[in-house]
Amino acid sequence: MFTKILIANRGEIACRIIETAHKMGVKCVAVYSEADRNARHVALADEAFLLGPAPSRDSYLRIDKIIEAAKISGAQAVHPGYGFLSENAEFAKALAENGLAFIGPPVGAIEAMGSKSAAKTIMENAGVPLVPGYHGDDQSRELIKAEAARCGYPVLLKAVAGGGGKGMRVVWQESEFDEAFDAAKREGESSFNNGDLLVEKYLTKPRHVELQVFCDRHGNGVYLGDRDCSVQRRHQKVIEEAPAPNISDEIRKAMGESAVQAAKAIDYVGAGTVEFLYDEDGSYYFMEMNTRLQVEHPVTELVTRQDLVEWQLRVAAGQPLPLAQSDISLHGHSLEVRVYAEDPDADFTPATGTLDYLRTPVESKYVRVDTGVIEGDTVSHYYDPMIAKLIVWDESRELALTRMQQALEDYRICGLKTNLGFLSKLAGSESFRRFDVDTGFIERHHDQLF
Ligand code: ADP
Repeated sequence: MFTKILIANRGEIACRIIETAHKMGVKCVAVYSEADRNARHVALADEAFLLGPAPSRDSYLRIDKIIEAAKISGAQAVHPGYGFLSENAEFAKALAENGLAFIGPPVGAIEAMGSKSAAKTIMENAGVPLVPGYHGDDQSRELIKAEAARCGYPVLLKAVAGGGGKGMRVVWQESEFDEAFDAAKREGESSFNNGDLLVEKYLTKPRHVELQVFCDRHGNGVYLGDRDCSVQRRHQKVIEEAPAPNISDEIRKAMGESAVQAAKAIDYVGAGTVEFLYDEDGSYYFMEMNTRLQVEHPVTELVTRQDLVEWQLRVAAGQPLPLAQSDISLHGHSLEVRVYAEDPDADFTPATGTLDYLRTPVESKYVRVDTGVIEGDTVSHYYDPMIAKLIVWDESRELALTRMQQALEDYRICGLKTNLGFLSKLAGSESFRRFDVDTGFIERHHDQLF
């Protein structure tokens, strides 16, 4: 095992990684920007290095500075967390060139999943189900339009380099195609420097179900259950849960096996997430693979009773996976909400300010709070405005949801605007309790939730 690692991130995920590393007797090096001098992740670490000014491109995205800090401190490995450099193949390469281990997948696996169309080709060849569509090299408008007609409207145009819901356009009928094609292409070019598009059948009531996978360097691969992340606002997840409700054991197992197949197709190592669109009739289709630890990994930890960061460290150090597939079982139900500094009265735009008063729900076997802030801290406009993740567990979904409602009521934040009220309405919604859920849930219940 490593004796010292560097965490190239900030906020709750940096704190969460430090906790596990310390539990394993591994020392932690934090990095920080000028805005984060007094941040919780810096206080928790054994040593810390200043990277530069507040903007991410001058600090948390500075590959050279991070490598320098790792070398000076004598860290043997770097954990990238999520966001920032976590899915940056150049970063993984640079670490290897400097003799540092990357606590993440091999460079080839990151690259293979970097393009939505290339990822689809690999998955198709590996026998993983795909949404009917076209993801080829011929980018002419005529051909893509003909392919759209072949899929049957509605279709979805996606920028192949897209992410975070950008560069996507739903096209309901052929007469709207040209305009949507131009818009998606423009967005791909401006946001990702790549105007290539793919087209796929647009499912009107799908769920977002994703599988947590893990592979080691010895050819072992397992799945640690699934998560439902269908409740989304503008393609951003709001509430996540494990296991995904109302899915038969048979389909759950088939999805898990497809996910491991997907990971093996790219010689994956470490923690990964395979996202599927799940249709009412039980069919599921590969959407993309995220080559990092996800924000929502705690719900999987609570139902599998495993520490996924510990798994990551073990695998990165060359150890075999701690468990075989037959040893992994799911217990009870877990839900997570993302508590954000955002203004519900201004269409949920990020809010900034000081956390003048902060009371988090009491943590127990049933309630977990992952956070990177304490009372008195400032939420700035430089980074993601997530204040905390609130995660609950209980024997059943019904009980877990009641725990969530209580924990949200107990949560008090003064000094800035948050989405706590919105989350309470969501957790208290009868349709959510019944799990009448698909990716259109928030839009459909707009009047009750806002
Ligand atoms: P991004 O990489 O930008 O996050 P994804 O391909 O992961 O884009 O899709 C984001 C979200 O868009 C999904 O979680 C799902 O809600 C919706 N979506 C994607 N593809 C389809 C589809 N073919 N039909 C219906 N909804 C889709």
